[in-house]
Amino acid sequence: MNDTTQQTYRVLARKYRPETFSELIGQDALVRTLSNALTLGRLAHAFVLTGVRGIGKTSTARLLAKGLNCIGTDGSGGPTLEPCGQCEPCLAIASGRHVDVLEMDAASHTGVDDAREIIEGVGYRPVSARYKIYIIDEVHMMSKNAFNALLKTLEEPPDAVKFIFATTEIRKVPVTILSRCQRYDLRRVPAVMLVDHLASICAKEKIAARPEALAMIARAAEGSVRDALSLLDQAAAMTADALTPEMVADMLGRPGRSDSQAVLTAALAGDTTTALTAFANAYARGAEPEMLVADLLDLIHLASMHAAGAPSDDLIDSDKQTVFDLADFGIARLGRAWQLLLKGHGELTHAPDSAASCEMLIIRLAHAALMPTPGDILQKLPTAPTTQHTAPSPKTPPQSAPAETSTQAKHQNEAPAAETSPPDQPETHAAGQPAMPQSLIDIVTLAEANNEMLLAARIRNHVRLVGLQQGRLEIALTGNAPDTLAGDLAKQLGQWTGQRWLVSLSDKDGAKTLAEDAAEAAAKVHDAITMDPLVTKIMAVFPGATIDAITPAASPEIDPQNADDTASVDDEEMSG
Ligand SMILES: [Zn+2]
Repeated sequence: MNDTTQQTYRVLARKYRPETFSELIGQDALVRTLSNALTLGRLAHAFVLTGVRGIGKTSTARLLAKGLNCIGTDGSGGPTLEPCGQCEPCLAIASGRHVDVLEMDAASHTGVDDAREIIEGVGYRPVSARYKIYIIDEVHMMSKNAFNALLKTLEEPPDAVKFIFATTEIRKVPVTILSRCQRYDLRRVPAVMLVDHLASICAKEKIAARPEALAMIARAAEGSVRDALSLLDQAAAMTADALTPEMVADMLGRPGRSDSQAVLTAALAGDTTTALTAFANAYARGAEPEMLVADLLDLIHLASMHAAGAPSDDLIDSDKQTVFDLADFGIARLGRAWQLLLKGHGELTHAPDSAASCEMLIIRLAHAALMPTPGDILQKLPTAPTTQHTAPSPKTPPQSAPAETSTQAKHQNEAPAAETSPPDQPETHAAGQPAMPQSLIDIVTLAEANNEMLLAARIRNHVRLVGLQQGRLEIALTGNAPDTLAGDLAKQLGQWTGQRWLVSLSDKDGAKTLAEDAAEAAAKVHDAITMDPLVTKIMAVFPGATIDAITPAASPEIDPQNADDTASVDDEEMSG
C-alpha cells in the first residue's frame, strides 16, 4: 500500500462519514426509535449503543451528541436528528474539541477514580452547550466500583447531563446500568445495501467499477460501512480503469466469487475435475484456500436459506443465479456439504499444505455429492422386513434376496443365518400337530413355544450338537452346563413331540453352541455392514460417525416370544 492509497483512504472515509441520521446507512430501526423519542420529548438521560466492532458506534455517538447540542445555523434550533453541521457546537463536536462533550474509553480508564472524576464533573452545568455529554466507549470494561459510582449518578442525573455508552459486549454491562439506559442496537449493514451505497459513492467520485467488484468489497466488509469505504479506497487507488472482481480478489487475497461459485457448483454436481480446475485458477490468482472455503460456506448458507424459503431480496444480484441453482440440490445435500466444509475449514489451519488440504476437501465434497442422502437411502432400502437382521454368509450376501434366506435357513442345520431367522412357522405350535425338530434351533423354538424359556436358554448356551435323528439326540455339553440338562431335554422332547427321545452325551466336541453361532453371526453382520460400500461411503460422508447399534427394520413377522432370538444381534453395542 503506497502513500497515495493512504491519502485517498483518509479523504474518502472522512468525506462520506454520515453527518445526519438520515445518512446513517442500514440503521433504520435505530433512527426511527431515536426520532420518536426526540419528537415525544422522551430522550433518556443515558443511551447505550451496542453492536459488533467497526459498525459505527462511536460515530453514531458523536452524531447523537451533535444532534442533542445543535443550535442550527440561525442559533435558535433545538435538539434534532438533523444536526446542521455548521453551528459552533456541531463544528466543535465534529473536531472533538467541544468542552461539554467528553469522550473516554473505558478500556483505558477502568478505575473508580475516573468514575469519580465523572461524577464530580456532573455537578457542574455545561459551559456553553445545551447538554453536558459523556461518551464512554467500551463501557463494559469499567470496574465494578466504577459502575457503582456511575449508577448513583444515573439514579438521579442532573437535567443537563447525558450519557452515551458504547459497547461490543452488552452482556457484560450490569443490568442496573442497562435498566437506566435507552438501548440502541447497531446492525451489520446488509451487503445489498452496502453495494448500493458503494455504487452511489462511485458515481459521485467517478470511480468506474463492475457490480461484482463492489459486491466483493461489500461481502469482505462484513456489514461495516467504514470497512467497505476503506476497501473501495484501496481498490480505487490501484487502478485508473474500472474495478474488476479479479482486481478486488487480488487485493483481498480472496477467491473471486465466480471462482467460488464454479468450485461449489461443480463439486456439488460431483464433477471433481471441473471443481479442482476452478480451485487451481483461484489459487493461481492468489486466493487463500481458507478464504475460498469460507466463501463456499457463505454460498452454501445463502443457498440453504433460499432452499428453506428465505426471501431472495437480500441477495446480491451477481449471487442470485448461483444461489438459486445451488438451492436445487436440496437442504439435505447442502447441509452435508456445510458439515464437510466446516470441518475442513477447521483442519486447513493445521494442515502443512493448505492448498493440498483444500483439494482433498473439494474431492471429498464432490465424492459425497454423489452419495445418496439419508433420505435417499431410506427410500432405496428394500422393504423386506427380514433384510436387516439376516446374518450374511457366503451363500447369502447382504443385499441379494435376503427374504428367501430366512425361510430357507429354517431347514439348514447350524447355518449362521438360522439363528437370526424369523421364528418357526406358525403351524409348528399353533396347529397342534407338533412337527419333529430337524435342528437344534427347532428344539429351541419348541421349548420357547412351550414356554420353557430357561431350558431354551440353556440349550442355546450349553448344547453342542453332535447328531440329530428321529427320536435320537446326541450332544456334547459345555463345561458349565447343569447336570440335569440332558435328562430335562429328553423328558421335555418326549412331551412336546409325543414320542420317546433318547438324549445321549457324546465324547465328541460337537458343533458350536447356538449362542456362539449367534455371536459369530453378529460379528459378521457388523463386519459386513462396516465393509458394505454404501456404509463405507456413508461413514465417509459423516466423518467421525460410528456404528453404535444394528437394528432390524420393524417387522410384523417377528414373534414377540422370540424377541430373544435377535436380541443378541440387535442390541449389541458396536462402536466402529
Ligand atoms: Zn448544528
